[in-house]
Amino acid sequence: MTKYVYDFSEGNKDMKDLLGGKGANLAEMTNMGLPVPHGFTISTEGCLTYLAEGGHPPGLLEEVDAHLKALESSMGKTLGDASDPLLVSVRSGAKFSMPGMMDTVLNLGLNDTSVGGLAEQSGGDLRFARDAYRRFIQMFGKIVMDVPAEAFEHALDEAKAAKGPATQDTDLDADELAALIERFLAIYRDETGEGFPSDPKEQLRLSIEAVFKSWNGKRARDYRRQNKISDDLGTAVNVVAMVFGNRGDDSGTGVAFTRDPSTGEKVPYGDYLANAQGEDVVAGIRNTLPLARLEELDPQSYTGLRDVMQTLESHYRDMCDIEFTIEKGRLWILQTRVGKRTAFGEWVMANEMLQEGLIDEDTALLRVDANRLEELFKRRVEADGAKAIAKGLNASPGAATGAVVFSADEAERWAKDDDTKVILVRRETTPDDYHGMIAAQGILTSAGGTNSHAAVVARGEGIPAVCGADAIKIDLDARAFSANGTVVREGDTVTIDGFTGNVYVGELPLADSVLEKARQGDAEAQAQPIWQAFEQLMRTADDRRRLRVRANADTPDQSSNARARGAEGIGLCRTEHMFLGSERVAAVQQMIFAESDEEEQAAFDALLPLQRGDFVGIFRAMDGLPVTVRLLDPPLHEFLPDLTTLSVEVALGQERGEDVSAKEAVLAKVRQLHETNPMLGLRGVRLGIVKPGLYAMQVRAIVEAACEVRKDGGDPKVEIMIPLVATRPELQQMRDELEPVAREIFQREGVELSHLEWGTMVELPRAAVTAGEIAESADFFSFGTNDLTQTAFGFSRDDIGKFVATYEERKLVPTNPFVSIDLPGVGRLMRIASDEGRAANPKLHLGICGEHGGDPASVLFCHELGLDYVSCSPFRIETARLAAGQAAVGEFASATA
Ligand code: ADP
Ligand code: MG
Ligand code: MG
Repeated sequence: MTKYVYDFSEGNKDMKDLLGGKGANLAEMTNMGLPVPHGFTISTEGCLTYLAEGGHPPGLLEEVDAHLKALESSMGKTLGDASDPLLVSVRSGAKFSMPGMMDTVLNLGLNDTSVGGLAEQSGGDLRFARDAYRRFIQMFGKIVMDVPAEAFEHALDEAKAAKGPATQDTDLDADELAALIERFLAIYRDETGEGFPSDPKEQLRLSIEAVFKSWNGKRARDYRRQNKISDDLGTAVNVVAMVFGNRGDDSGTGVAFTRDPSTGEKVPYGDYLANAQGEDVVAGIRNTLPLARLEELDPQSYTGLRDVMQTLESHYRDMCDIEFTIEKGRLWILQTRVGKRTAFGEWVMANEMLQEGLIDEDTALLRVDANRLEELFKRRVEADGAKAIAKGLNASPGAATGAVVFSADEAERWAKDDDTKVILVRRETTPDDYHGMIAAQGILTSAGGTNSHAAVVARGEGIPAVCGADAIKIDLDARAFSANGTVVREGDTVTIDGFTGNVYVGELPLADSVLEKARQGDAEAQAQPIWQAFEQLMRTADDRRRLRVRANADTPDQSSNARARGAEGIGLCRTEHMFLGSERVAAVQQMIFAESDEEEQAAFDALLPLQRGDFVGIFRAMDGLPVTVRLLDPPLHEFLPDLTTLSVEVALGQERGEDVSAKEAVLAKVRQLHETNPMLGLRGVRLGIVKPGLYAMQVRAIVEAACEVRKDGGDPKVEIMIPLVATRPELQQMRDELEPVAREIFQREGVELSHLEWGTMVELPRAAVTAGEIAESADFFSFGTNDLTQTAFGFSRDDIGKFVATYEERKLVPTNPFVSIDLPGVGRLMRIASDEGRAANPKLHLGICGEHGGDPASVLFCHELGLDYVSCSPFRIETARLAAGQAAVGEFASATA
């Protein structure tokens, strides 16, 4: 028969699956000889069977009975005994800590008679016994019987108010408590329609069932969804002999952390509340004292606690948080676990524990979360009591302040022409707003969630954003918004806090990140523990990782920035930005409109020197490191005015009798180039094929630039990448056309490069499944996982914002597949491509250049796939280096319970 119940002495910390985190750690501490009250744990299996079968599995209650007997005999008391009662707590505890989600009943075993026994047992302290009883009725009513908590709280408040202003719960005397108990029992009867159960065994059985059921409560389920915790774990139930912190001023209860969880400093940290029980500390019933004050109040217990803290930290080799209670000067430990900490704290702690010799380098590396690294480089708002006018979702971390603008065009204009810092305020954003979003310091939307277009773009670009601040009502005609009565006009300054979601009027001071300052050479910042930690752990990551990390960078500036952050080359240099900018637009339009080969050639001739200049700058910035240049990818209409806007302009002009012939000519071309489905239209290699001189011009610019840098003594390493290939012949024909162009220049210039390769992006399912063929024509593959995800799912990347939240909610996708690689689908395609590609061409080298290259979970997958490098935006380089190091060390730090 299955065993469902375990005495604390039978378990250990590795049995979290079965005993839950709380139970496993209570068992561990019991076996370490720490002062833990006796007790036992009913396993998660018991819970799951109970929930599946709608009742207790056979044998479970008998086992509970047997363990209760053992507990009674070890304590020398009987549960709920009239003269000397044993009291217990019934506590939930799942594998992962779910704070506040599952509930606990204290003082179980009390009833109208045993309350007298408890008083006697505690030297006639009636006040204490009645306080314990009223708490029990309150918790049992609320947790087990769903009596509204306010009913009890209201009665308690009334009792306090009746006594006089500023009365605290501890001020109520024994008689007042007796009256309160009567009130509570009446509330219980009114709300449940039955009397309070006086039989301790029945109290216990009902409480165990309530804890089991709370696993499926709404709050618990919501929390699990939010935190991606599985629904099939179940909770354990811990039955623990009560100790009392509410027995006067020499008693109390508190929580302690072995290090400061927010700064990571090695100082004791926590709260203490004298003459209190359990939840009082967190419930904020009275003001708690900082833990250090316990040293004055009760030096002996304080020393004992410090010893336990030390013992636990050495044992768990990590920062622990602890719940303790002092009963009449005697210390009891009621819970411990590896404590939660801030992104900042985890770095400092990991490094200091490494320096202290508590953990080794690999462990220290796994202690920090690559997903949170970016936050540490962001500025923060120093709100200093300033009042927010609205609060939205913290959609993208960081702080920003600037002038309010309401359209993307305005944002771009103000930022570029007037050099003004702007905050783009919109109801929602769309792909058409992109140019304004990246020109803004921050983005604020009144609708949309953390997966809205605004949020996704902002995170992708590292721009602070607050989304879905629904108090904000935008009035576009008035060029203003209002929020909770405050009116903010275009041009007014606001400050947004992407960490908290707060929105403020005016310019609040922003605190620079210590790490950012240190990275820029600030000596004071470099002396801080966080920088020491950063340098140390990044060194370890670089030392361990097998993946190289490159950047996606399009300009010389971005390239040198990326190199400073440790990029080992460029994995994606997009050339479309080289077709933008006022001086170039004319030539690009000339190229698009050319009616003869001569006209087209003239346009290419105009563009060539401009592009060459860009490449020279990039090759210099990345001297000695590989640079993958992608030939033109987007459809040509992106370089022309928008169809609708232009149509309107022409129509209006005609109405006014103006000469619109030039605009009409453009409009005709725009119509001709218009595509129903541009993502799947004339773009990528298809452009190269239908517009023969285009790629040749680009290759000429690249190779001439490389020759120039080479002649200056540089060492450009060039990789030319042809996008959106679906078949081998596409790639081969392009190479046949382009390689002679390059050869001719090398001959003319008398230059050779140390590295010149030709390859393709693998970003279409067909390319992935025929990779074996394509690899015969390629020196390298780079996975373009944005398009690959788009084409594998048939999800438009620009429109997924409309439904991805629903998909995640319903668990149709585990996460947004544009953020983390979809392993079974897109990942499988990548595996096929890399296996078959390598088999066909052993020299083939492989990388990834989609947004996923900076996502830790995707980096882990790329590591497992054995790619040569990942490439990501410059500000994700450190994240990728860290994640690659962690992947090599073998596993991600698993969530600690
Ligand atoms: P949570 O998971 O919400 O922290 P717990 O089961 O740890 O819930 O209990 C809530 C509070 O009651 C904590 O402060 C805990 O220390 C206290 N508590 C639990 N069991 C006992 C006990 N046997 N004696 C005294 N206090 C207890
Ligand atoms: Mg607890
Ligand atoms: Mg692509």
